[in-house]
Amino acid sequence: MAEKKTFVTLEQLKEIDKTYPTPYHLYDEKGIRENAKKLKEAFSWNKGYREYFAIKATPNPYILKILKDYGCGVDCASMTELMMAYALDYKPEEIMFSSNDTPAEEYEYAAKIGATINLDDITHIDFLDKILDGKFPETMSCRYNPGGFFKLGTSIMDNPGDAKYGMTHEQIIEAFKILKSKGVKHFGIHSFLASNTVTNEYYPTLAKILFELAVELKEKTGADIKFINLSGGIGVDYKPEQEKNDISIIGANVHKVYDEVLKPAGMDDIAIYTELGRFMLAPYGCLVTKAIHEKHTHKEYIGVDACAVNLMRPAIYGAYHHITVAGKENAPCDHVYDVTGSLCENNDKFAIDRKLPKIDMGDYLIIHDTGAHGFSMGYNYNGKLRSAELLLKENGDVQMIRRAETPKDYFATFDFSDALDKLNLK
Ligand SMILES: *Cc1c(COP(=O)(O)O)cnc(C)c1O
Repeated sequence: MAEKKTFVTLEQLKEIDKTYPTPYHLYDEKGIRENAKKLKEAFSWNKGYREYFAIKATPNPYILKILKDYGCGVDCASMTELMMAYALDYKPEEIMFSSNDTPAEEYEYAAKIGATINLDDITHIDFLDKILDGKFPETMSCRYNPGGFFKLGTSIMDNPGDAKYGMTHEQIIEAFKILKSKGVKHFGIHSFLASNTVTNEYYPTLAKILFELAVELKEKTGADIKFINLSGGIGVDYKPEQEKNDISIIGANVHKVYDEVLKPAGMDDIAIYTELGRFMLAPYGCLVTKAIHEKHTHKEYIGVDACAVNLMRPAIYGAYHHITVAGKENAPCDHVYDVTGSLCENNDKFAIDRKLPKIDMGDYLIIHDTGAHGFSMGYNYNGKLRSAELLLKENGDVQMIRRAETPKDYFATFDFSDALDKLNLK
């Protein structure tokens, strides 16, 4: 079984504690950089390759700036995500807008800042036509959903037939024809068929489906296809028994399919895009929390100072996040605990029946792989406040890249001025 290692030591955590109280999300600059570099190298065979980091995974400007060093653009799906991209000076060609159920004002803004619009549905062509007064951008993308189950060999990876995203085969052909008739010159194809895949086969299998579709679309519609967007879905090894994806193998196998399908069709100038979120950040962030209570009733509970508002995945998906007790990395896991937060919700548990070393009050628990879809899924239930985000820099310094919320933030969206006086929060 592979060991899940942390990127921070007990000594470092004690040092951080002098300035920043738990809980907080901590990110590992060195890990982020090494991984982004590997991804870039894995697709360097493709001239136009670009990763559009799925901003929803970790919407923090400091993180985005690190990724920018490796040529990453951003993939947005909402107004504020687009605004963030624009404010951070991403060039139009560095912004992908892969939204769904999109409000008119978001399309309008995306078009204004020159983001590439990736249409989720054929009915959105008319919707967009009205918003843009018939003036479509030169380049448009369409999202494909073949339906059915997505299988690798005999094992079912996911269920696109039950997913709200994308156009059917018939619809995407029709959409290309209509868009072409409306003056669109260049096209992209996008698809996201399985989430958090921990296998090197997902991207190559998806690539084959999309490359064959590209050939068919060119034949049937004469469209000039500029890029194929493999989107997100490359997962991480949340569990110790899982084997990590190897991005260099994934890149090489996509290359192979590219040469097999696109090259003979004379389409080997197509750029490959990716929109990875989880793969880019999840392993390079952790949630650090302190044990503050132990409870011995029908089960053994450890209560920590973080809760599901800081990390929602275990509560909503039953997702596994590995936990390391800092300083007890080599101690035997001879205790069984439920590790809980303080929400008045019984699903507020970071771990259930987890084998861990004996936990003492004040121990730091490092909850692994929270760098993507961690902080960003946070919410304010029970009036709980969002934590700080800290960056462990390559030189070992720690930088606060987002402060923790305060009660004043929580009260900020209604008129509470008199009460703020009473609370001394003015
Ligand atoms: C969420 C999302 C991604 C990123 O998914 P990961 O699982 O984090 O890789 C990419 N593209 C779109 C359109 C998404 O909605």
